[in-house]
Amino acid sequence: MLKTISVRTSRRMETVDITELIQEEVSRSGIDEGICICYVPHTTAGIIINEGADPAVCEDILDKLEQVIPRRGSYKHLEGNADSHIKSAIVGSSVTVIIERGRLLLGTWQKIFFCEFDGPRTRKVYVKLIKG
Ligand code: ZN
Repeated sequence: MLKTISVRTSRRMETVDITELIQEEVSRSGIDEGICICYVPHTTAGIIINEGADPAVCEDILDKLEQVIPRRGSYKHLEGNADSHIKSAIVGSSVTVIIERGRLLLGTWQKIFFCEFDGPRTRKVYVKLIKG
């Protein structure tokens, strides 16, 4: 079962909490136990699982990424978004979450965040649900 979630971003760099959108797909699927793979098919975006209770955590992650990999720098890729590609490579393109009793089995403070590194754009997240 493959679903596609659309994410509209509004800044060059931001995180978007997509946990509920993914949970809705899990609920709609009727799958009680299984695996949920969330995959971002973009080279300048990514996906992470991290703390959702304090928004300062995601701000710190973005600030630190920008500090380590600044937008302006000496890059060979001349499209102007070399930093975005590197940030994407570091955070990764997919997360896997266990489905238990029809719910994403996340820790108390965990949320799933889409990471935009070259927005604003309309992006896609593929959600593959496997029963088992
Ligand atoms: Zn590029």
